Amino acid sequence: MISSPRRDLPAEVFPDGEILFLHAHPDDEAFLTAGVLLELDATGRRCTVVYLAAGQLTSAPATFRRQAEAHQACAALEVAELHFLGFHDSCYDDHPGAVSLGTSPDEAVLAALTMVTGQLGRYSAIVGYDRNGGYGHRDHRRVHEIARSAARESSIPLLEATIDRDVVTRWLASARSGEELRPDLGFWSPSFGLPGSLVDCRYELSAEQLVRKREALACHASQMNPGQFPLGLERERFASLLGVESLHVPKEMP
Ligand SMILES: [Zn+2]
Repeated sequence: MISSPRRDLPAEVFPDGEILFLHAHPDDEAFLTAGVLLELDATGRRCTVVYLAAGQLTSAPATFRRQAEAHQACAALEVAELHFLGFHDSCYDDHPGAVSLGTSPDEAVLAALTMVTGQLGRYSAIVGYDRNGGYGHRDHRRVHEIARSAARESSIPLLEATIDRDVVTRWLASARSGEELRPDLGFWSPSFGLPGSLVDCRYELSAEQLVRKREALACHASQMNPGQFPLGLERERFASLLGVESLHVPKEMP
């Protein structure tokens, strides 16, 4: 649809009205969609973010800390409304009493979703994840499935945030030394994101949006520190990996 990076989000991709973003965990909103959220707000399209797996972590203090960080990051990204569903991160499946996102059926997750958002039909589009859930985390693949179910049931246009596999592969190959900061690929599936040919919309962040993306990421202090990936990257390297955000637009209602 729109293959080269561009600095706007036209109505043919994001219709006017309210946009619903489904994210797996706090920090995913900043990694994948910080610039898109800022641009939508700046052009009058209100955004709601729902975290599907941020309700319960290992303990109440851990949950509250992650949620407080999410509130800070969403404020930095001008998100109008955010909600948490009460599912555990699938990494804590063995936690006593866990109700994990990975094992909860679609109906249960959709019921929780509509309880916090009200009728999904009020949104003009819903944003989920690509089929690989970005880097392959089980909760991210559930976001892919839940967003598709929600779009199908409510007949809302669907978009899927993704990682351009070609860009990441080139970026990793261009690392100037083995010591450069890089993502911990131990958590990644071999088939992460989507090939560039399946990326339909590339949004290029402005210099100011890049600064704000970094600030939003920094809100998640329990997940990353300033000296590590990605906050420790110099400006150019940060921009070359995270300065363009990618979306896949399914050709038909799933
Ligand atoms: Zn995540």
